[in-house]
Amino acid sequence: MIKKHNFGAGPCILPASVLEKAASAVINWNQNGLSILEVSHRSEEFEAVIQKTEQLVKDLMKVPDDYAILFLQGGASTQFSMLPLNFLAQKASYLDTGFFAQKAIKEARLFGAVEVVASSREKNYTYIPQTYEVCLSSSYLHLTSNNTIEGTEIFDFPQVSVPLICDMSSDIFSRVIDVSQFDLIYAGAQKNMGPAGMTLIIAKNSFLDSAKELVPSMSDYRIFRDSKSMFNTPPVFSIYAAMLNLEWLSEIGGVEEIEKLNIEKARLLYDELDQSKIFQATVHGTSRSRMNVTFTARNPEIESGFLKFIADKGIIGIRGYRTVGGFRVSLYNALPLASVQVLVSLMKQFEQMVIQENSSIII
Ligand SMILES: *Cc1c(COP(=O)(O)O)cnc(C)c1O
Repeated sequence: MIKKHNFGAGPCILPASVLEKAASAVINWNQNGLSILEVSHRSEEFEAVIQKTEQLVKDLMKVPDDYAILFLQGGASTQFSMLPLNFLAQKASYLDTGFFAQKAIKEARLFGAVEVVASSREKNYTYIPQTYEVCLSSSYLHLTSNNTIEGTEIFDFPQVSVPLICDMSSDIFSRVIDVSQFDLIYAGAQKNMGPAGMTLIIAKNSFLDSAKELVPSMSDYRIFRDSKSMFNTPPVFSIYAAMLNLEWLSEIGGVEEIEKLNIEKARLLYDELDQSKIFQATVHGTSRSRMNVTFTARNPEIESGFLKFIADKGIIGIRGYRTVGGFRVSLYNALPLASVQVLVSLMKQFEQMVIQENSSIII
């Protein structure tokens, strides 16, 4: 299989073996003469897929018994309104760490008061605020563990006495997490779990039971829990492909093993950035994301030259988000260390070229 070095931020790279299995299931699933796209979601075979996927999530993340696993649609963005719709009584608290946190805040304001406990906006969201207080009458505190666009990540989750909710869309399954710290975790699948179309929810049952009385069915977590994610037709193919991806993760040693590899990949790239004469990381210290590494050229004029230089060498997806500029390199689970090594060596080559070709330009 011919593959590019796919550093795209999402939908993301998936392991080649997962793509091969998914492709063959689209043609003839389990040699049963039907495509995975045609089978009934109520068939025994597909029920086994949902059960298996749920079990993989539980095993990989060591989810405690009193938690429910749901597979919903509408992406992580639907959670921005579904959460306050279910849980915001008078007021909810949000940590403002960037673009997606902002979107969550905007939706919550439709349902009640929002307390922004801290914001790193004044520094272009280049760090995670560490100290803040949360109003005790808040229905919950909402965090974004990995800020996909800005390249920051929360490594120390706060101890709070209100329910803790976290958008883990872009770092779920990338590192060991203590699920018991959270009342509800959600993640759009297409960053680090599978193809687009499915949103994973891991939630404490007692928290789900505390939801408001009157919630539209399609937004009611309890209905999806009690119907085992089968209240309506679930995203069959997305769940199936996510199952294959989680099987792959389990086979290579699970979250503990992939975390070691993710640390190594991020270190390799940040080390290069920290000693580069032409590039610089935008995030420093303990807020640096291992999943999305953001950087700029010291001289912005060389940025397009670098993109051109790497384009014909199979590097894909490192242009920074349209509102942020610069570069963003996503290092999701399926991205091999070898791809980072290729990128780093191209960065070194480009640096040599810039220095040699024009020693007079300001870099
Ligand atoms: C991509 C992303 C979202 C939005 O996900 P959709 O599934 O496209 O709605 C939300 N939060 C974070 C942290 C993301 O990276």
